[in-house]
Amino acid sequence: MPHNDSVEKVIIIGSGPASWTGAIYAARANLDPLVFAGRPKTIPTTVLPGGQLMLTTEVENYPGFPHGVTGPKLMAYCEQQAVRFGTRIVTDHGLNPDVSDADDGHNYAYHDCRRVDLSHRPFRVIGEDDKEYLAHSVIVATGATANWLNLENEQRLARTGGGVSACAVCDGALPVFRGKELAVVGGGDSAVEEATYLTKFASVVHMIHRRDQLRASKIMVQRALTNPKINMVWNKIVTDVLGDNMITGVKLEDTQTGEHSKLALGGLFMAIGHTPATDFLEGQLELDQKKYIKLRDPYRSTTSVEGVFAAGDCVDSIYRQAVTAAGMGCKAAIDAERWLADQGVE
Ligand code: NAP
Repeated sequence: MPHNDSVEKVIIIGSGPASWTGAIYAARANLDPLVFAGRPKTIPTTVLPGGQLMLTTEVENYPGFPHGVTGPKLMAYCEQQAVRFGTRIVTDHGLNPDVSDADDGHNYAYHDCRRVDLSHRPFRVIGEDDKEYLAHSVIVATGATANWLNLENEQRLARTGGGVSACAVCDGALPVFRGKELAVVGGGDSAVEEATYLTKFASVVHMIHRRDQLRASKIMVQRALTNPKINMVWNKIVTDVLGDNMITGVKLEDTQTGEHSKLALGGLFMAIGHTPATDFLEGQLELDQKKYIKLRDPYRSTTSVEGVFAAGDCVDSIYRQAVTAAGMGCKAAIDAERWLADQGVE
């Protein structure tokens, strides 16, 4: 049963830069957007309302902040801006959010969107406690989450606070990692960023990569190779994580020779890419092989279902930047506004 009989003009699912930018544009276009910003989760990975920027310290490449801005602060600003223009957020306390302060203070009483039914209009968006919301249009901006190696001991130690994490920026400063030998798995920009961050606390940071060349951008490669506290461990994969309550090391296999070795560690951080948060869309929207939402036109935000638009990291496997996600959120809101006008919904 619908939670109430009214049909929302647009429901936005997600709370990262794409979502809040979409909400700012939709609110200013009098679409009165309703946002499902999501509950925080820690298993298997940390997911917070605000998305991946909530797990980042300094953001130095978002225009308009000449001296940088922290990820949580940037997301709080975006959220406040969306709410200032009338965006409503589904929360434990109704639809009137207690807007966070600029430093953090994100409201963790936000609701998840559990399911959607996009098979006919109005669309049905099902939240917590099976509450249904009806919508003429939907913008999906659910982002992506960190990948794991999916080794049994990796997962066990990650869940129990045993020194295994997929977010160095969230966990690296914990006292348990201070002065220890740490490792980051991966060879992309995230791996370099995380390894560099960890050098503030670690005695040494090993970057374990399965090839002999980093995937990261040139400037990041330079940063890794010239940092005296970063030790490159080339051509190795982690085959097991050692330790009962706390990690003591990893087993490695050489991808060239097949040789096995061990590396003693006091902490292990995964930086091996991300998976779009689109499970709840299976059978509802067309997804690609990696579960990213397929756009009908790469320059637009239109999806396989008319009236449903998508933006941000749940669509984008290439750029994955806060600023590109925000730009896509803007496009989605404008596409939704024009489509709704064509349908006579203003
Ligand atoms: P990514 O570029 O996809 O890199 C993932 C890394 O993990 C690759 O080196 C990959 O190895 C490795 N990997 C993947 N699966 C693995 C497995 N099962 N076992 C071992 N290694 C595995 O992901 P990302 O570093 O998170 O970056 C994502 C996007 O965000 C990129 O576009 C990046 O430029 C951007 N980004 C930018 C910044 C910045 O500019 N400051 C910071 C972070 C991210 P292979 O190389 O062998 O495939």
